[in-house]
Amino acid sequence: MTARILVVDDVPANVKLLEARLVAEYFDVLTAGDGHAALATCEKTPVDLVLLDIMMPGMDGFEVCERLKANSRTANIPVVMITALDQPSDRVRGLKAGADDFLTKPVNDLQLMSRVKSLVRLKNVSDELRLRAQTAQTIGLQELARVDRPDEPGSVLLVDGRASSQERLTRALKPIADVAVISDPQAALFEAAESSFDLIIVNANFDDYDPLRLCSQLRSLERTRFIPILLVTEQGNDERIVRALELGVTDYIMRPVDPNELVARSLTQIRRKHCNDRLRASVQQTIELAVTDDLTGLHNRRYLENHLKLLIDRATTRGRPLSICITDIDRFKRVNDTHGHDAGDDVLREFANRVRATVRGADLACRFGGEEFVVVMPDTTPEMAAIVAERLRLAVESRGFDIPQAATVLNVTASLGIATLRPHGDTAEALLKRADMALYQAKNGGRNRVVAAAA
Ligand code: GH3
Ligand code: MG
Ligand code: MG
Repeated sequence: MTARILVVDDVPANVKLLEARLVAEYFDVLTAGDGHAALATCEKTPVDLVLLDIMMPGMDGFEVCERLKANSRTANIPVVMITALDQPSDRVRGLKAGADDFLTKPVNDLQLMSRVKSLVRLKNVSDELRLRAQTAQTIGLQELARVDRPDEPGSVLLVDGRASSQERLTRALKPIADVAVISDPQAALFEAAESSFDLIIVNANFDDYDPLRLCSQLRSLERTRFIPILLVTEQGNDERIVRALELGVTDYIMRPVDPNELVARSLTQIRRKHCNDRLRASVQQTIELAVTDDLTGLHNRRYLENHLKLLIDRATTRGRPLSICITDIDRFKRVNDTHGHDAGDDVLREFANRVRATVRGADLACRFGGEEFVVVMPDTTPEMAAIVAERLRLAVESRGFDIPQAATVLNVTASLGIATLRPHGDTAEALLKRADMALYQAKNGGRNRVVAAAA
């Protein structure tokens, strides 16, 4: 993981110390000796995280944090406040100022690294999401462009062996999450795999169970691999924490648990989980948009050309038949000329609906271009293809097409050409070509008919 980290402290020795530790972990480090310098750096260079001292002459850490969070150019940079004393009131003020997490001086190495890594991961996914949203905006996809949404409540699974801490932790998390509580680790594993949690908090307080076993099992199950885990553990057990982090535990918090710290740390993980989920959904949506025809919602030509090859390979290796049908609306130009382009679009949409309603789920229906559509039918002999094509022809001819904006109902017909895959050495191009020739014959023969290509 590489990231640019800004260390802000008025004491040069403190800056040097943090800088050395971060550089040793290959982070790129910038430094600032006061609040003004820190703000200026964040304005002019991309920074992935700010480690911010609170007690500084002039502008203190709270104010720096507030200003960073109030400026849209810097609001997304995570801020870790470094408190001189373990002062709960400092943490409350820090949270109010918008800090994402806390560290207490003297800064422990393990804490420093897990806080930094945790927040840099969040920054990475939210940056990626923002970038995609920008592109989506540029190409006019509004539904993908919404990125800066308010935090949605998270869903948290708390695995905790003791009633008293269950109660305390649940109360602390209430403002930011719906919490499910389970005392038995094995039941928790089952529940985690069955539901979809944004965060699993494991309180290491079982009488005769090693909590790291649960963490390791959560990391190895396909369904729970990507859910962040926050471990609650006692002070002075660094060895266990190191092992936990190696196992893939995302972050940890020490007992006695400060509710503010718990909220800050949980929020980071929940945000990251939500960002990741949205990123994955947006990748999926982008893929779908790239292979879908806007007007009709059918697959587009690009998809057909790629997918037909796969379907042909599969049919060939399994020795199964495969047929295709090309259909073209008759005299469609007249529809546009007489009723306008929008009415033409209505006809295309309704035509696509009838294609969809006629074919089986396993068939692939695409808009091939203009008023031409292709249906690929796996496991379909020429005889069956002829029946499907005839059914489609009838589905178009038998009922008029409603054109609300032209306040009319149009009679539409289509011509269809079918072709079947040859057992040896046939290609997608050759198959489409034969179907297209058959379509041409259907047009020449008087339209509104089905013609099959010679086998
Ligand atoms: P034929 O029976 O020989 O197929 O005659 P046709 O008029 O259907 O064929 P031609 O290829 O001459 O015209 C097709 C028309 O389809 C021309 C084009 O403007 C129109 N068209 C292509 N894409 C769209 C579209 O997305 N919307 C609308 N409304 N019209 C389209
Ligand atoms: Mg036509
Ligand atoms: Mg045409």
